[in-house]
Amino acid sequence: MSRTVLHGFADRVSRYWRPGAGEGVRLEPLLRLVDHMPAAVMTVDPATLEITYLNAACRRAFADVALAVPVPLDALVGTPVDMLLGRDPDQVRRLLAGPGSLPERSRQRFGERTLEALVWRLDGLEDVGPLGVLLWHDVSSEIEAATRAGRLARQDGLTGLLNRDAFQERLDLVLAAPGQEVCLLYVDLDGFKTVNDVHGHLVGDALIRQAATRLRDTADRAEATVGRVGADEFVVLLPYGDTDRAAALAQTIVDRLGRPYRLGTERQARVGASVGIAQAPAHGTDAETLVARADMAQSAAKDAGKGSVRLFADWMEEQVRERVRLEVALRRAIDGEDGLFVFYQPIVDIETGTVTGREALARWHEPRQGWVSPGRFVPVAEESGLIEALGRLVLRRACQDAAGWAGGERVAVNVSAQQLGRGTLVEAVLSALSASGLAPDRLELEVTETALLPVDEASVAELTYLREAGVRVALDDFGTGYSSLAHLRAFPFDKIKIDGSFVREAVERADSAAVVRAVAELGRRLDVTTVAEGVETQDQLDRVRSEGCVEVQGYLYGRPEPSEQDAVVVAGLGAHGG
Ligand code: C2E
Ligand code: MG
Ligand code: MG
Repeated sequence: MSRTVLHGFADRVSRYWRPGAGEGVRLEPLLRLVDHMPAAVMTVDPATLEITYLNAACRRAFADVALAVPVPLDALVGTPVDMLLGRDPDQVRRLLAGPGSLPERSRQRFGERTLEALVWRLDGLEDVGPLGVLLWHDVSSEIEAATRAGRLARQDGLTGLLNRDAFQERLDLVLAAPGQEVCLLYVDLDGFKTVNDVHGHLVGDALIRQAATRLRDTADRAEATVGRVGADEFVVLLPYGDTDRAAALAQTIVDRLGRPYRLGTERQARVGASVGIAQAPAHGTDAETLVARADMAQSAAKDAGKGSVRLFADWMEEQVRERVRLEVALRRAIDGEDGLFVFYQPIVDIETGTVTGREALARWHEPRQGWVSPGRFVPVAEESGLIEALGRLVLRRACQDAAGWAGGERVAVNVSAQQLGRGTLVEAVLSALSASGLAPDRLELEVTETALLPVDEASVAELTYLREAGVRVALDDFGTGYSSLAHLRAFPFDKIKIDGSFVREAVERADSAAVVRAVAELGRRLDVTTVAEGVETQDQLDRVRSEGCVEVQGYLYGRPEPSEQDAVVVAGLGAHGG
């Protein structure tokens, strides 16, 4: 084929094209269409690879990217097509060299835009010989959309950090190299939930964004990769296996994340951070194991106190297994009502010394471990969804036992935050009352401070319904949570139980004594009974009496003890420590 410009495709191409042996097809009118068809067609001489023809659409396509094309538009015909195929001329050359090749795609960038050529070799055109055909197509917007979608699928929307899947993929890729040494930090914010609950989600989001920026700034200098894997949980991949160096960086992260956050013009908030570290290959050689173990180390750091940094150790995994075993055993105990007891501790009127009520406290004797404290199994029940069944069991037994008390004292039953606002509490309470025949005003529900914030309307509605039915409601552990006074506005409690930590400190510390006095005073004004919890000594009793508390509960008056009918069984199980 010559260098002559093909002014019209049909002028130069055979008038008849006979595909196979079949009857002739008159081609000319079809070929003339090529000049004016909207697709951008270019032909190339397969021998010299010179461009022989561009149709009108093809000229327009290259005019749009003219600045990025190394040859003037008018000089394109006659120019080797390689000039346009900066990226893969060999592939195109190969395609055009041999007969019978299937069309293939080749993408080329021209400045900001990307054109894709569908390239194939046309054989069997009589009088013309083989012809290289390139059908160009602008794919820039497709690529842009795909990139955006890809970025979205890999990015955390709030912070722009890698999301969990993308981070895991990156980690897998890094760990695929044998003997690769890396450290993984698992960073968890302490106290974020409170900020979210008290100030709302918008403020919470702003804080997370700022925390992410601080984390990225700190990690960038260490050539690290950062991801967000939970609401307030981040992971940092460090390209080295030196755990001392990783711990030093973790400490810097804790310090930076712990500085105050400015949220809007007026607001400031503080959160802390706990960091767990796992090292590859020592603690795992696949992403899943390494992330899980860094997370376990993070939990251990949190248990050790806010702002701690911990390196993974085998005992941490053992602890997790232990917790799973405990959950399995607790489920069995609840299902079979086996080994679970309700103990009762007296609540006493400080002036008359009479027992006004008893608090029902769950106790569990596990066959292998012996007595397990509620401080251990109640959180397990809450996290595993068992608290609903456990709560019903305690309510039912407490009401039954109290119905038999000759003195007519009240029974106080603890209600977990997880039992509130789910639409199940009212039914559980009413059925326990009707099964036992206990008068509603002899039942008191103890709700802990953190259960009601943020003020959840469903929870308040349930408690309001029960209170109108005559059941009393107490605010438990007052003073240990955040924004205690907000609770008193959220619901008209019948009783406030001042946490034992204030009572114990009240003897030595003037500020704790002042808190006890202020709460007692508040109780008087609101006509709410105040109870001092955890009174163990005469000194403490004298102090809370002089500060104005109405009732007391504590070892000084009596430890939690089993009901009369359980006493024999419990004694047979060994010391329970109350
Ligand atoms: P709480 O409701 O504040 O119960 C008072 C805790 O203080 C009990 O611990 C009680 O044994 C302990 N105590 C009482 N007097 C004294 C004292 O003079 N000194 C000291 N040091 N401690 C005293 P216990 O029974 O270990 O229960 C711990 C927590 O577990 C309870 O705190 C309550 O929040 C939770 N809990 C217990 N039983 C149940 C239950 O049936 N359901 C739910 N949801 N939570 C429960
Ligand atoms: Mg209680
Ligand atoms: Mg309490």
